[in-house]
Amino acid sequence: MCAIVGVYGAENAAQIAYYALFAMQHRGQESSGISSADGKEIHLIKKRGLVTEVFKQEDLDLLKGSCAIGHNRYSTAGKDSVLDAQPVYAKYKLGAISVAHNGNLTNKYKVRDELIEKGAIFQTDMDTENIVHLIAKSEKNKLKARIISMLNKIEGAYCLAIQSRSKMFVIRDRFGIRPLSLGKLKDGGYIVASETCAFDLVGAEFIRNVKPGEMLIFEKGKEPTSKMLFEPDPHICAFEYIYFARPDSIIDGKTVYNTRLEMGKQLAKETPADVDLVLPVPDSGVAAAKGYANGMGVPFEMGIVRNHYVGRTFIEPSQKIRDLKVKLKLSPIKDMIAGKRVAIVDDSLVRGTTSKQIVRMLKEAGATEVHMRIASPEIKYPCRYGIDTATKEELISSHKTPKEIAKYIGADSLGFLSIEGLKKSLGDERKYSLVSFDGNYFAGGNADSPGCSCY
Ligand code: AMP
Repeated sequence: MCAIVGVYGAENAAQIAYYALFAMQHRGQESSGISSADGKEIHLIKKRGLVTEVFKQEDLDLLKGSCAIGHNRYSTAGKDSVLDAQPVYAKYKLGAISVAHNGNLTNKYKVRDELIEKGAIFQTDMDTENIVHLIAKSEKNKLKARIISMLNKIEGAYCLAIQSRSKMFVIRDRFGIRPLSLGKLKDGGYIVASETCAFDLVGAEFIRNVKPGEMLIFEKGKEPTSKMLFEPDPHICAFEYIYFARPDSIIDGKTVYNTRLEMGKQLAKETPADVDLVLPVPDSGVAAAKGYANGMGVPFEMGIVRNHYVGRTFIEPSQKIRDLKVKLKLSPIKDMIAGKRVAIVDDSLVRGTTSKQIVRMLKEAGATEVHMRIASPEIKYPCRYGIDTATKEELISSHKTPKEIAKYIGADSLGFLSIEGLKKSLGDERKYSLVSFDGNYFAGGNADSPGCSCY
């Protein structure tokens, strides 16, 4: 998960990076950071909190220079988030560098153990620190060559923005698992960002996607140059389309909202329900529920209202009043639901907690039947490429059939989209990372490898 941005050749680079991170807040809410380079020095500000909490105007004024890279971090439990904030900055033989990383390295522990064996010290548990160490330890005498030697030692999913005092390097792994696009700024300069919704906010024009296996090099007074480092084998992550990306983003040529509509339509073909109303779980299930309702010709209604102001700062309800947790966020429109047979659509089912609470909420609101529909396949395997989908034991579909889950969540029926149906909705012409559904760990790692700290 997480978001990265890189801005090069712009007068107010840090300001642009700030707005881009704001547009990509959905990709990570735990911490945010920007480092800027002015040719002589790298300046860095990173803190715990949302983008608007981390940066004040006076901070952005300190982030001088025409190059800036930034990062939003996705929250994972039990981490010291101040230390784990990015970009990661370090001084080394050639000067200073700063690194922002989205993805997850599958050989993190092997590389880290080797580095520690040779005396390296680490400040955090992040795989991004491996990247900085490998660059610093390389014996090449140019940063570009050091980056390439580092890339030959890491495996897994990564989109990287690496900044020196005067240059910026942007790299996407050869599988292109996480999205990354290149845009041109109106007043001169370039921007790369995890999602195109960042371009829309800063008024940048989309140029193209960064290719899997490609490195882009930005240098003063030159147009960016491209170097293909690895044989591409594109497998864009299906979960970006299902849940993670913003609906208005275009990922590898496809608008996320439209793919969700298609998933809903396909779901209607595969597992229709005899109901009076289709409701979405807001906001994650909205587009898929619309597609599902359209596909069946049944009315679609926003029958559950979401409170958007439940922030991270809210005191967690105690076990005794745990029902409060879902009620804080979601509330049914009783008049609309009472006496009706409803289908409720969400994008995914992970542990089953959300579905269980929503089904109960709808029944209490007077629904006569509740049919749960999930616009993605059963999640049976933990992702090792940067989507935080818990451990295998926690994934309810890894040990229960849909019928058993329906019983557990109290639904009258439960239907998932098939893997084939998902591929059809996304377009059969290309390959996807479907690891959560089919357990194909094509980019390394496995279901039992140590848990993912998603960046
Ligand atoms: P669960 O309650 O564990 O079954 O989780 C399902 C809900 O979590 C759905 O409403 C999804 O939209 C949402 N969801 C799915 N994947 C993730 C993720 N990686 N991080 C946070 N929420 C997620």
